[in-house]
Amino acid sequence: MDTILVVNAGSSSLKFEVFAAGSTLARLLKGQMEGIGTAPHLTVKSAGGERVANENYSCENVPDLLAAMRLVGEWLRERQEGRLIAVGHRVVHGGPDHTRPARIDQNLVDELERYAPLAPLHQPNNLAPIRVLLERQPQLVQVACFDTAFHRGHDPMTDHYAIPARYFDEGVRRYGFHGLSYEYVAGRLAEVAPGISNGRVIVAHLGSGASLCALWQGRSVECTLGFTALDGLPMGTRCGQIDPGVLLYLLQQHGMTPAQLQDLLYKESGLKGLSGISNDVRDLLASDSAGAALALDHFVHRMGLNAGALAAALGGLDAFVFTAGVGENSAVMRERIAGKLSWLGASLDARRNDGGELLVSTDDSKVAIYVVPTDEELMIARHTFALIAA
Ligand code: ADP
Repeated sequence: MDTILVVNAGSSSLKFEVFAAGSTLARLLKGQMEGIGTAPHLTVKSAGGERVANENYSCENVPDLLAAMRLVGEWLRERQEGRLIAVGHRVVHGGPDHTRPARIDQNLVDELERYAPLAPLHQPNNLAPIRVLLERQPQLVQVACFDTAFHRGHDPMTDHYAIPARYFDEGVRRYGFHGLSYEYVAGRLAEVAPGISNGRVIVAHLGSGASLCALWQGRSVECTLGFTALDGLPMGTRCGQIDPGVLLYLLQQHGMTPAQLQDLLYKESGLKGLSGISNDVRDLLASDSAGAALALDHFVHRMGLNAGALAAALGGLDAFVFTAGVGENSAVMRERIAGKLSWLGASLDARRNDGGELLVSTDDSKVAIYVVPTDEELMIARHTFALIAA
């Protein structure tokens, strides 16, 4: 049996999945090492959802991502049958030129390294396991799947910032992210709602990172995330859209260093910063504090504004799709957000929404509302499989 390993490496977690690559792809294992460097914990589940590993490690054993990678590698080699034919990696930033996944070699790693300042929390972590595997197993096929690639079909006009054009040429432009998720959801929508998937659709990826993507005929035409993963909606700990004047103020009046500013905008802002309690929507929904209410009200308000902007980009709206952690699991947040779309003719069906159905709008809603669970790992496995088959 041939297998494909999918790796999604973050700052404190390493997610991985193994797929059997036969005539089709079949998921075998899904695992993650969380709490790297603080309270390392490995969980692995089989395709049927049965827990096959649930182990704690000491920080000395798993101090960093590379140690986690080594440990997961050993775990897989000991227990996983089959022949590993390729590794597919999630790479958050592919820059301006990568419109599709790419086979990894040293030149590509060097190129992708240049985008680290544009995704400081993600890109270095995404590249670390790639570099190690390239060094230790140079024959192993590795494929980089970019979160930016799906948005590369945008009209270049939309990807400009209104600053002198030479900066666009230098790479200061709107890239958009969560592309693997949007690509998967666009594909699913074509299966479950073929009539609608060709129309004007907004997909809301609402996880710890959050963004909206405008799809026209299944292709991205706009995204609320831009040059970095800070723009658009407020997120768990990231600020979302902010007047650049605020940054000048913080630099000039508070004497903040770039590193302090980066920390503030990526790690201390968003729902966490507003609420002063938590970045997790579940905690905020469970709290009766004024901070939690402010954070959720603000999030829903900004969702409405951004959805309006994307509907304008599409010239109207045929469907709105919820996905990722908040979008898939929180009926309450879906209800609140759908309320902001009522002026577009969207009407949520409370029973369908509570019942976890795929279509959650009323029969007479002018905008169909769907809940489509995302699967970025399957998307990566598919791309990796397709690339080696080609
Ligand atoms: P990530 O963006 O880290 O890949 P997810 O897409 O799984 O993760 O989203 C994680 C977020 O989803 C959590 O921070 C939490 O706020 C939110 N979430 C998960 N389940 C629920 C739920 N039942 N109700 C509200 N929010 C939820």
